[in-house]
Amino acid sequence: MGGGSPMQTVLSAPGVNDGKVVSFTLDAATDEKDTVAGLIRSIIATSSPAQRTAFHVFHINTVVDLFSAWRRTLPDVRPYYAVKCNPDPALDPGRAGRAGRRAVLALGVGVGGIPPGANRSNVYANPCKAEPHLEYAAEAGVALATYDTESEVAKVARCHPRCELLLRLKGPDGGTTGGDLMNKYGAHAHEVSPLLRAAQRAGVAVAGVSFHVGSPVSRVDVYRGATNSARAAFDAAVALGMPPMRVLDIGGGFRAGAAFDEAAAVINDALADVFGDLLPCVEVIAEPGRYFAETAFTLAARVIGKRVRGEARECWIDDGLYGSLNNVLMDHKVPRPRPLAGACPGEKTYASTVFGPTCDSRDLVVTGYQLPEMCVGDWLVFDNMGAYSTGAGSKFNGFDISEMKIYVAYSS
Ligand SMILES: *Cc1c(COP(=O)(O)O)cnc(C)c1O
Repeated sequence: MGGGSPMQTVLSAPGVNDGKVVSFTLDAATDEKDTVAGLIRSIIATSSPAQRTAFHVFHINTVVDLFSAWRRTLPDVRPYYAVKCNPDPALDPGRAGRAGRRAVLALGVGVGGIPPGANRSNVYANPCKAEPHLEYAAEAGVALATYDTESEVAKVARCHPRCELLLRLKGPDGGTTGGDLMNKYGAHAHEVSPLLRAAQRAGVAVAGVSFHVGSPVSRVDVYRGATNSARAAFDAAVALGMPPMRVLDIGGGFRAGAAFDEAAAVINDALADVFGDLLPCVEVIAEPGRYFAETAFTLAARVIGKRVRGEARECWIDDGLYGSLNNVLMDHKVPRPRPLAGACPGEKTYASTVFGPTCDSRDLVVTGYQLPEMCVGDWLVFDNMGAYSTGAGSKFNGFDISEMKIYVAYSS
């Protein structure tokens, strides 16, 4: 990080600068949610009727605060931001996906993925890579990639032989709320030595090991089991006469708040107990995605249609499961929309259904959800919308997620 405050560094980063930056005052006495809602109101009030469509507010202060918390709580682990959680559409410099990444880069966070440039700070963390992507990684100078099969070793030896590898290990089962990734990726214990030998034979260097316990983590003790497996792999490399490993990548799955403190406590203890003797020579890195992205984004969506059926209320909004509310499908997100106007005390609420805009009847955001009477032109606000949302949306049915505006907001 250069001179100046972290906030100045972030705001002057390319990509953040190009975006639509709005500043607002954060009054210490008010709740941050209220402040962001106030900002959303003023964005709507100052936009023309034609511009009044769903948008995101990316609150940079949140990322700056999360980065400070990371450095305080996990001081020995360098974060590499997992781009897929909220990525950069490379052709569209005005979008805050890019600003989001630029913001974390400016803070000194590395990147998991293969964007051009910034190659020293990249890990290509997908264990199964298409050959053109490996060739691109070679051109871009990405020098560290994960693997968990012999076929990947052969591909790397062919397409990017100077790339160093991290052996991806299978994490312990049962660690996530959102579906286990555990069968798709990661070497089992008995596969570790054969996979190390395969790299040895092919002349590809293995710099270390990685694991990713899943996303988000529900039982933080999985980090200890995974750290034990990592140590066994370090020892297996020594037993095979390979150069000592020097990178331990503990993956992602972190959630901001108390859950992060709990995970960090387990990780700090496990690193001291299991890797204590090696730590001076081992660089420990992590690949947090949602930790940085989730709470920094707020969605505002506009009511575009309405139906009354007896006591039930139904409305359509201009974002849905094929747009940034894709996290309902992909990330098991349970949306909790609130009316931008706020609810008056004692105001009657109705069991409401909120639909997304596409013609697919599965494009349903919430149902049986208590809301005051919503009318066309009203707005719903969704908090914590930064993880696996805009990055996973589509153009289905003519609603193109890449056109959605993202306002980059900061408070001083
Ligand atoms: C998706 C992913 C991450 C990020 O996970 P989060 O839960 O968003 O932190 C990290 N590492 C790998 C290999 C991933 O696939």
